[in-house]
Amino acid sequence: MPKTPQTRVAVVTGGSRGIGRAAALALSGPGVSVVITHSNPQSPGVAETLEAIEARGADLAEAQVWNAADPEEGKRRLVDISERLGSLDILVNNAGITRDAISLRMTDEDFREVLEVDLFSVFSLSRTAGAVMLKQKSGRIINVSSVVAFTGNPGQANYAAAKAGVVGLTKTLALEYASRGVTVNAVAPGFIHTDMTKNLSGKIKDALLARVPLGRMGDPEDVAAAVAFLASPGAAYVTGQTIHVNGGLYL
Ligand code: NAD
Repeated sequence: MPKTPQTRVAVVTGGSRGIGRAAALALSGPGVSVVITHSNPQSPGVAETLEAIEARGADLAEAQVWNAADPEEGKRRLVDISERLGSLDILVNNAGITRDAISLRMTDEDFREVLEVDLFSVFSLSRTAGAVMLKQKSGRIINVSSVVAFTGNPGQANYAAAKAGVVGLTKTLALEYASRGVTVNAVAPGFIHTDMTKNLSGKIKDALLARVPLGRMGDPEDVAAAVAFLASPGAAYVTGQTIHVNGGLYL
């Protein structure tokens, strides 16, 4: 479909699967161009995700493979998207990884890698997106944190630190960007059915599930609904906030 002057441009990092895919679909519709990024050129679900975005009537569906934690590449890509497609209206910083081990055994490399992908990328991509959005005097940045930012989690010192950092970063960017009408918020998912959680042992899953008051794991769509709200006109007066989507897990 041709781009109309009203088209909003949304970029979802890690949009090839899981929560990012569901968020990209929830943002899709007429008048929205959607770019998903991911890190795996062999990723099997990308073509199907693009078809699903198109089926929702999006003006454009595009996939790109690049490392969200590479600041030069991220800047080049986001500037290109905003110039080529005419604006950058929504950035969902969703790309994330885990490298779990109890802290006594966690390597420096695994700590740093998770910080790079799960926190530094949010800073560097938001810095570029923020520059574009402040000039536009509009824009929404939505960062994906985690329940473990608030609870801690044995075996996830790197991940919990990164995701807690995302919350502080979100509040700070919200304050810095507010005067130009750009909002910055976060979602903090709990225990969600995705590739990230599929390899947990049955025992760990059962123990986690026993702590979820709503009695089930979340679906990516549960998180995507909160992302879609934060990107919607209804959230124009919401900034610096974290929406918890965790079935009550952290209580
Ligand atoms: P997933 O592993 O299914 O998907 C991760 C996506 O991120 C993939 O598209 C992958 O290609 C992309 N990605 C990974 N590293 C990247 C990099 N360096 N550059 C670009 N893309 C990269 O994960 P998911 O479960 O859908 O998680 C999505 C987000 O939600 C992550 O930030 C994760 O930490 C967070 N989260 C997940 C859960 C859960 O229970 N699944 C809970 C809380 C938070």
